[in-house]
Formats: sequence, structure tokens, C-alpha cells
Amino acid sequence: MLEKVLIANRGEIALRVVRACKELGIKTVAVHSTADRELMHLSLADESVCIGPAPSPQSYLNIPAIISAAEVTGATAIHPGYGFLAENADFAEQVEQSGFAFVGPTADVIRLMGDKVSAKNAMKQAGVPTVPGSDGALPDDEAECLRIGREVGYPVIIKAAGGGGGRGMRVVEDEAELIKSIKLTQTEAGAAFGNSMVYMEKFLGNPRHVEVQVLSDGQGNAVHLYDRDCSLQRRHQKVIEEAPAPQIDEKAREEVLARCVKACIDIGYRGAGTFEFLYEDGRFYFIEMNTRVQVEHPVTEMITGVDIVKEMLSIAAGNPLSIKQEDIKITGHAIECRINAEDPKTFMPSPGLVKHYHAPGGNGVRVDSHLYSGYKVPPNYDSLIAKLITWGKTRDEAMARMRNALDELIVDGIKTNADLHRMLTRDQAFGQGGVNIHYLEKKLGLRH
Ligand code: ADP
Repeated sequence: MLEKVLIANRGEIALRVVRACKELGIKTVAVHSTADRELMHLSLADESVCIGPAPSPQSYLNIPAIISAAEVTGATAIHPGYGFLAENADFAEQVEQSGFAFVGPTADVIRLMGDKVSAKNAMKQAGVPTVPGSDGALPDDEAECLRIGREVGYPVIIKAAGGGGGRGMRVVEDEAELIKSIKLTQTEAGAAFGNSMVYMEKFLGNPRHVEVQVLSDGQGNAVHLYDRDCSLQRRHQKVIEEAPAPQIDEKAREEVLARCVKACIDIGYRGAGTFEFLYEDGRFYFIEMNTRVQVEHPVTEMITGVDIVKEMLSIAAGNPLSIKQEDIKITGHAIECRINAEDPKTFMPSPGLVKHYHAPGGNGVRVDSHLYSGYKVPPNYDSLIAKLITWGKTRDEAMARMRNALDELIVDGIKTNADLHRMLTRDQAFGQGGVNIHYLEKKLGLRH
């Protein structure tokens, strides 16, 4: 096993990694900015190091500061969590070149999957179904682009190879707008991502977001942990996730799960990862891969019993996968509500002092949160303050437990989106399962 892990992150995920390390007898080093001295996991980790001021470029994104902290504390590995440097190939490379194990894939694989054009090509080669579209980047040839547009069929979407976080995309309804839209997206992508390469995809009208969790040891062994549905989104941000995805065509599911496992082996994937798909009319279309642990990983843990973070740590120590595909079975259903410190009407972040915090409990309830009464949510970072996860034998039971859990939750002093979740877990269409990615914004009146 690894000896000492530095956690290059904050908030609930840093706490999650500390807990997993403690279970495994691994020593931990927490790093934090000056705005984060009150984080809960700092007192639970064996050591903590301040790596810089509040703005994340000077702390959580400061590669030399993080590597120095690992050096002075004698850490042997670095876990990046999600966000910040988790999908930064240069960081992974520098971590390994400095002699530490990186808890994640190799820098080459992060690079391959971080570029959407090369990721899509790699997936096509592995037989993973992708959205029909241009064969790689669009050429600098207007007639050829128009031809591709006709072949794909309108509406199409122009996407930046280097895009992320829902940025760098433009829907084109008909041919008259195509060339102008390509140029605009190229200019924006060049400015935002330093890469003006764009490609074209068929625009799917009413897809669901369904993703596949994998674990792969980079030694030729890979498994899938089934799927999750994360269709309830606002501005491409997931709000509620669940596992397994309800009402999926069984044959299409079997096929896509097997293809994801094969893709892991083909690209030499190491660690935990997620293949994200749009799902429409019984078919899966790959959109991107996340080469890290995801916020919503607990729903998969609840239905499979596999501890994804412990498995990541074991893989990083060089061990082969400890589980076989035939041993991974789905039991019941799990739902996760992301509790954010935000204004329920404007969705603006609502940082500040949590005067009183009470976490729900009971059968089938899990709370992943770094909150405590008296904690002050700093204004500098993501507004996620708690993940409420419930499990049930059936989806209905998990949903009923979630309604109870939300009713028990108390976060006093700051505004949260708990009422949005209380409303959604009583929503009839969501209750039936299988709503598409536009459902939430339509319901909120943010979209027609
Ligand atoms: P990002 O990395 O920026 O999140 P993705 O490729 O994952 O970009 O796409 C983000 C979102 O954009 C998807 O969840 C979906 O809502 C929408 N989207 C992307 N590609 C398509 C497509 N071909 N058709 C319809 N919607 C799409």
C-alpha cells in the first residue's frame, strides 16, 4: 500500500480521501489555502500544510507549492480529487517526475482524453458508440465544412476540441449559419482554451445524460461499475444523480458497458474513470471521458458496495484490481442531491457562517460533507457544501428516504438549494424516471 498520501484538494472530497486513507492505514497530508484554515479534514489528517493565499491559482492550482508540500512532508503519493488539477496532464507528469505516485491515469492518457477530438477517435477505435459527426477536426475549407454539415444533417453542434465545463459549443440550426458559427467558435476557443480546433456533431434534441463508471489497473484488468443518470442539470451542472440509470434498453446497456471496459484496456487506462454519454431513443453516444473520481461516485458505491476511492489508492500503489466483473452486482438504487450554498432564486453563491448544521440520518442515508456548526463557507471556491445520498431496495424507497433526509437537513445562516431538492424529489415526471437533460431548466422556466 501507499505510505503517505497528499490530498491536493479541499472540501468534501478531501475529507472523503482522508477517510479512505485512514481505513487503509495510509498517512495523510492535507494542503489548504489561507481561506481554508477551518476545513474539517485538516484536523483529521496527520499533517497539514498551507500552500498559499485564497485565490486558487496561487494555492490549489499552484503546482510547485503542492509538490514542495509533498517533498517536505515525505508524502509518497498525491490524490488530486476532482476539479482543480485533477485532469491537468502537466501536473500528473510533474508529480510522477518528482518521484510521487499520481492517484490517477498517466499524463499521456489524461492528454489523450482531455482533447475531445483525440478522445472521440480513441473511443471510435475501441468500438464505443459516438455522436455522428465530422471525422476529427473541421478543415480550413468552407465547401468541405458545408458538405460535412449536409452529411451529418441539421441541427448540428460545433464543439471546441479543448472545451470543458459546458463552454465552447454552438448549435447551428441550418446551413446558412454554419460558416459564421464555425469561425466564431474557433475564435472563442482559441481565446478560452488556447486551441482553436473545432469539430462537428449531430445535435441531439432530447437526450439523457447517462455515464459509465470504470476502474482499471493499467495492467490489463478493467471492470465497469454500471451506470448513473445525471440528467437533472442546470447550466450543464449536475443537480441530482442516481444509479443505476432508470429505464435503459438492456441490450444497449450490456453492449456499452462491455465497450467501456474494452476501451480502458485499449488505452491503458489506470484508476477510476467515467465515460459520459448522451442517451436518446435507446442508443448511447459518447461525449467525453472524465479521468478522475467524480462528485457523484457515492451512488455507484451504494449500489455495488465497491469503495471507489480505496480502489483508486490501491491501483496507484501498483496493485492489480481487487475485484472481478462477475463479483460486481447491483443491489437496489441510490440517489444523490448536491446541496449548494446558493441563493434559491438567483442561484448566486451564498457563502458565510453556518450558524447551525444538522445532518440527516437513518437507514440507507449517507452524507458526504465537510460542514459543521460554526464553519464559515469561504467565497472563493465551488459552492458544493454537502452531498446527500440515499439508498433503497427500489428507486421509490431511495426517493422516499431522500425526501425524509431533506426534511431533516438543517443548514442555518446561509442560503442553500435544499428547497429545490425538496421540490424535485416530489416531482411527478422525475419520480417516474428517465427525464432528459432539458427537464430541469424547463421546469425552472429558464428554457422553453
Ligand atoms: P463539457 O466538457 O464542456 O461538459 P460535453 O461534451 O460533455 O462538454 O457536453 C456538455 C453538454 O453539452 C452535454 O451534457 C449536453 O447537454 C450538451 N451537448 C454536447 N454535445 C451534444 C450533442 N451532440 N447534442 C446535444 N447536446 C450536446
